Amino acid sequence: MAVWPPSPGRTWIIDLDGVIWLAGQAIPGSSEGVEALRTSGSKVLFATNNAAPTVDELVARLDNVGITAAQEEIVTSAMALATMLEPGSTALAVADGGLLEALAMRGVTVVDDGPCDAVVVGWTHRFDFELLARASRTVRGGARLVGSNEDPTHPTPHGLEPGAGSILAAVATASGVDPEVAGKPHAPMAALLKARAPDAAVMVGDRPATDGRMAEALGVPYALVYSGVTAEGSAPSQPAHAASAADLGALVRAVLAST
Ligand SMILES: [Mg+2]
Repeated sequence: MAVWPPSPGRTWIIDLDGVIWLAGQAIPGSSEGVEALRTSGSKVLFATNNAAPTVDELVARLDNVGITAAQEEIVTSAMALATMLEPGSTALAVADGGLLEALAMRGVTVVDDGPCDAVVVGWTHRFDFELLARASRTVRGGARLVGSNEDPTHPTPHGLEPGAGSILAAVATASGVDPEVAGKPHAPMAALLKARAPDAAVMVGDRPATDGRMAEALGVPYALVYSGVTAEGSAPSQPAHAASAADLGALVRAVLAST
């Protein structure tokens, strides 16, 4: 049963985009919130659907906003996607460094064109008609279509930009298939998070469709923050959230004041 507020000493699973930062710019109070959690004896595990950055890049970005994190404290949809492919298999990648890194660690060989075992799609700036044509042709030739995540957008200080889900939708439409998806709220990410944080106490995130559903899959409470893609007052009734706050700092202050 999902218990609120979470008891001290357990792991808070925390989304990155829209919770810790917006396009790499710190959301005020987020580093203080993480610090206060750690001081209180809780642990943190960062869980992002962004498959583009490498783990080292994420560690550096966290450092830039005042948060020290070990590689083991980061789980990405790229890592989840890699678990869906067999070591020794081949993949055409519509993706940036983080997903390429995860594929390499899994022993998957990235190829420039099909035929191959899978077309994998993450977030990338390098997306054009030629790549869309090559990817869809490869899927029509028999490759699996596997996406890192379905987020249609991601939040930036200048508004919403297209997310990996928009790229995946283009490839899926051109290919005529439904994609398999790795990231929040899907089973591969749930399995990774359960393995990394069997003591998870809460999932904090700005997007109910991914973070809220992920909390449901993990059987932990969902805490919604309004610092990303969801404006206060506009949250859907489902999935339900156990708590909400303007941002992570305010959420942590409220929880620590009540326990
Ligand atoms: Mg988010």
